[in-house]
Amino acid sequence: MAGLPHKILLDESQLPTQWYNVVPDLPGPPPPPLHPGTLQPIGPDDLAPLFPDDLIAQEVSTERFVDIPGEVLDVYRLWRPSPLYRAHRLERALGTPARIYYKYEGVSPAGSHKPNTAVPQAFYNARAGARRLTTETGAGQWGTALAFASGLFDLECEVWQVGASYDQKPYRRTMMETFGARVHRSPSDLTRAGRGVRAEDPQHPGSLGIAISEAVEVAAGDPETRYALGSVLNHVLLHQTVIGEETLLQLAAVEEVPDVIVGCTGGGSNFGGLTFPFLREKLAGRMSPVIRAVEPVSCPSLTRGVYAYDFGDTAGLTPLMKMHTLGHGFVPDPIHAGGLRYHGMSPLMSHVYELGLVEALALPQTECFAAAVRFARTEGIVPAPEPTHALAACIREALACRESGEEKVIVTALCGHGHLDLAAYDAYLSGRMVDEDVTEERLAPSLAGLPSVPTP
Ligand SMILES: *Cc1c(COP(=O)(O)O)cnc(C)c1O
Repeated sequence: MAGLPHKILLDESQLPTQWYNVVPDLPGPPPPPLHPGTLQPIGPDDLAPLFPDDLIAQEVSTERFVDIPGEVLDVYRLWRPSPLYRAHRLERALGTPARIYYKYEGVSPAGSHKPNTAVPQAFYNARAGARRLTTETGAGQWGTALAFASGLFDLECEVWQVGASYDQKPYRRTMMETFGARVHRSPSDLTRAGRGVRAEDPQHPGSLGIAISEAVEVAAGDPETRYALGSVLNHVLLHQTVIGEETLLQLAAVEEVPDVIVGCTGGGSNFGGLTFPFLREKLAGRMSPVIRAVEPVSCPSLTRGVYAYDFGDTAGLTPLMKMHTLGHGFVPDPIHAGGLRYHGMSPLMSHVYELGLVEALALPQTECFAAAVRFARTEGIVPAPEPTHALAACIREALACRESGEEKVIVTALCGHGHLDLAAYDAYLSGRMVDEDVTEERLAPSLAGLPSVPTP
């Protein structure tokens, strides 16, 4: 190991100055979002009550590259470019000839990749004159990122945190409040959507879909308030491509070409951010990595969902998006990877999956935490519960290489650290963590509740 690079760093002058939009490089565009009333494709005007013009333009953009504003680059420089590590000690522990690289996004202020999009979203909203942003948060990562970014651009920030995680992760709330946000337990009494759910079940653990309904309802009712989403939408995946652009430069610096790229998928943003620049290279014939999304067996939107138009939230307030979905009424088990508990998948990622350009795999959480503990003990970083899924898939691949003798180059995004998720590690280490599979009986009602949209 002596002399081999462990940490591949870029200097600030190599920070990408453009985000990459994969849409023009695909064989066809993703199906458009539809207005839930008319079932016609929505236009920019339909989105105007929720988002500023710049973000709407990015949402529908067909330009391959979008310049990153100087004000955003200035903030990115607080932690970017982020390091790419070679996992020498993990490789040795696995006895694999594979070479494993991980791009570490835990160095950001929130401890995850989420500030990559929170900062530009806050910037564009502030420039358009917004006074307040509302949002939802599951594990608390997105709320933390938006709280931080809002403060930098003098915006108020109000967060609906999924009840189960609000109860389990009090320190996330403290972190959001430290950055200046107001945090509500969702479902709350502050919105019609929240009151509706609470009327049926006052102890409801909440879900991302419900929290989105609450944040959207408040933003739609106040002209000075806009809504910000931390994943799923095209502009979010666009902003996250700084991850993949940097990783391309870092691998080139050590003359490596990836054979397999794996990442965890909740709404698809860290995965899209890592993989789209590589997909561009693949489509141009310059490399041919296998690209693999990893999701929890408890919320298997890609591997067991249907590809259909569905709402992004539980109350049905959002436009209809064509995506891999378990149905907007599906409430996943409260697994520890809160960021992966979303009923749908980004429409853009779903489209890319339908085109056969990426594969998907679902893993149980105990296998993921076993991988994470192994990783922590060799590489020294305690991963967030979400990327434990990616690490478990890396380990599966590396062990297959041990059998076959193949020296594959495996690349993943370690998209966050788990310093505020130690309760999950405690559950795992004390043997209390269980794997819950989703039965067909449980999926059936939420799939039956999909809105009916005639095929054009
Ligand atoms: C939010 C989050 C996720 C899930 O969101 P994606 O859009 O799929 O990336 C995964 N990992 C971490 C650390 C997160 O904070």
